[in-house]
Amino acid sequence: MHAPPVQRLVTELGRLPGIGQRTAQRLAFHILRTPPEEANALADAIREVKEKIGLCEVCFNLADEARCRICQDERRDGGVICVVEEPGDVIPIERTHEFHGRYHVLGGALSPIDGVDPEHLKIAELFRRVDDGAGQVREVVLATNPTTTGEATALFVADGLRERAPQVTVTRLASGLPVGGDLEYADEVTLGRAFAGRRAV
Ligand SMILES: [Zn+2]
Repeated sequence: MHAPPVQRLVTELGRLPGIGQRTAQRLAFHILRTPPEEANALADAIREVKEKIGLCEVCFNLADEARCRICQDERRDGGVICVVEEPGDVIPIERTHEFHGRYHVLGGALSPIDGVDPEHLKIAELFRRVDDGAGQVREVVLATNPTTTGEATALFVADGLRERAPQVTVTRLASGLPVGGDLEYADEVTLGRAFAGRRAV
């Protein structure tokens, strides 16, 4: 049995995704061995990110101001909105240099089994954004992950858009992305191709 402070660290680390008990323990012992300034830098980085980073009021991407950098960039085309699941999905798409529009981050994917319903995601906010755009939005690209939940989310959003804004073209990334994979891990060539070859749905 560890001393309570060590146990607390193991417990907290074990809450991280993909970190089992054994890894949590290994990380905790690693932190115990590192010099105080290094360990404190990690603690400070966690504290700072929680204090300074919030969600963009327009697209729900990560932002250190009211609006994210992409929403603040006047050169980005407001007529095309790319819908992704997580803020982490914006980065690989940016890296392809294929996309010059704006984003909308849903904050996850629909999964009724896990209790994730439409109202838990920023779907209503997307519909409102398209409505408020007063005809400015020409295309919505659905770039949710090629997984069961990602596909279900894309279908739901596409249906909603067709009903509310039939003038808007709704597209989905071309196949070629590994099925069941995560956008975050797709290489930029594959993702760039999927973007260029997107089709209306
Ligand atoms: Zn934004």
